[in-house]
Amino acid sequence: MAVDNPARGKRIVGSELLEELRKIVGPTQVWVDPEKLEAYSHDETDAKTYGHMPDAVVFPQTVEEVSAIVKLANRYRFPLIPRGAGSGLSGGAIPHQGGVVVSLERMNRLLEIDTANMVAVVEAGMVTNDFARAVEEKGLFYAGYPMSLETCCIGGNIAENAGGGKAIKYGVTGRYILGIELVTPRGDIVWLGGKLSKDVTGYDLKSLLIGSEGTLGIVTKAIVKLIGLPTAKADLLVLFRTPQDAIDAVPEILTRGVVPTSIEFMDRLSIQTSCRYLNETLPYEQAGALLLIEVDGKDPDQVEQDMITVGQLCEEKGALEVYVAQDKNNMERIWSVRRNIAEAFKVYCPVQSLEDIVVPIREIPRLIPELEKLSRTYGIQIPCYGHAGDGNLHATLVKDPQMSMETWKVVEDACLQDLYTLVTRLGGKISGEHGIGIKRKKYFQALASPVELELMRALKKAWDPNNIMNPGKIMDLE
Ligand SMILES: Cc1cc2nc3c(=O)[nH]c(=O)nc-3n(C[C@H](O)[C@H](O)[C@H](O)COP(=O)(O)OP(=O)(O)OC[C@H]3O[C@@H](n4cnc5c(N)ncnc54)[C@H](O)[C@@H]3O)c2cc1C
Repeated sequence: MAVDNPARGKRIVGSELLEELRKIVGPTQVWVDPEKLEAYSHDETDAKTYGHMPDAVVFPQTVEEVSAIVKLANRYRFPLIPRGAGSGLSGGAIPHQGGVVVSLERMNRLLEIDTANMVAVVEAGMVTNDFARAVEEKGLFYAGYPMSLETCCIGGNIAENAGGGKAIKYGVTGRYILGIELVTPRGDIVWLGGKLSKDVTGYDLKSLLIGSEGTLGIVTKAIVKLIGLPTAKADLLVLFRTPQDAIDAVPEILTRGVVPTSIEFMDRLSIQTSCRYLNETLPYEQAGALLLIEVDGKDPDQVEQDMITVGQLCEEKGALEVYVAQDKNNMERIWSVRRNIAEAFKVYCPVQSLEDIVVPIREIPRLIPELEKLSRTYGIQIPCYGHAGDGNLHATLVKDPQMSMETWKVVEDACLQDLYTLVTRLGGKISGEHGIGIKRKKYFQALASPVELELMRALKKAWDPNNIMNPGKIMDLE
């Protein structure tokens, strides 16, 4: 049925197993052609460093098909790697030990919008933006989406517990997931949670799944909480002389009674790079950094008042200029610059490491001089942007074009170790939203408490005794 897999030291899919998979999902829904498989060999991390070809990709369309695939994998012990859109930034969807990628992209239906209960039921492969738009047409709001909403899927958001630009006020994906239909690592089908605002009936297994990076089962459906659509909003684009000035303002804004929807930070190099990529202009020339602050609500007068309060506070904190955007066109222009920073750095600085460190909000001002120190120590640029209002910043280590790849690898590793040690010292964590996957596994294992690691390993072994589900991610088991 199978051949040896040297990377795993166990067995992996052969032609007879492929036949079994075809019987489950249909002959056209099992791909083995290397040209087609390439797109499934990486996510949005560096493909050269982390990419690995799967043996096959399967495209189930029902939960029963997913269950049958998982049971087959248990019988013959081959790895399964659940996959949404592959927009992940930690290598979570990469089949780094080979095996079969289970793509949820055909399970993409919106099954129900239940306005009486203010929830929707959706399949895991639905693109997040399609879902957000569909509920918006009913005057409802799904607030738990990340910045990559145009590509990523609901299932991937749940598996990463994604957070986006609205997390200060609305929270991250997990706050909106009331129920999950799960195929367990042994192939059983179970609903966890339900259309409930409260549920303390036994262990909260649904919450354990959120952020488990595809290692504890395959999410096939979700019950998602909806809220009323905010109808008024305003964006402030605030220029500061230095990144430190901008960051110093953040904890102050958060403690003055107004709860902004977003406080996004962008240093000069990040804005410049994104504007160049989009052929856009923003008035940033005199500024070392910008804050993009959004306030929203249902009452336009209240939103106006909040906007004035936040604007005045920024001026008190030394802002050079406060611009206000209240029309849709200008708001979209500014947010597009913010959303495209990562993509722009990928184009102009393809060798880089995009990080998403998180620290307690009061500690953010201490990060900036430390990042500048790391930049000087290692002779690389470390542009920085991100969700400053959540203490979550995308410091991006960028290879100097003159640096050899060999040197870069050494520098990247040493700089990441220093960076992660620093955030841990500040009471932070190495990832606020992108997860551990394979990219941060080594550092996570070195910095996490041994007791916490042991508890995680025990959970993984109990849920997935044959180590089928996304093996080798987050931590090693032995
Ligand atoms: C430009 C850009 C901007 C981004 N902005 C943000 C941001 O603002 N906030 C943020 O949090 N992230 C952001 N990300 C990262 C990424 O988009 C998120 O992690 C997203 O949630 C991944 O969803 P996906 O469908 O692409 O998942 P994938 O990349 O396909 O998979 C991610 C992980 O989830 C697992 N998985 C996927 N589907 C399932 C399922 N149905 N059941 C079980 N496990 C599953 C996979 O095995 C893998 O471990 C950004 C990425 C890019 C490229």
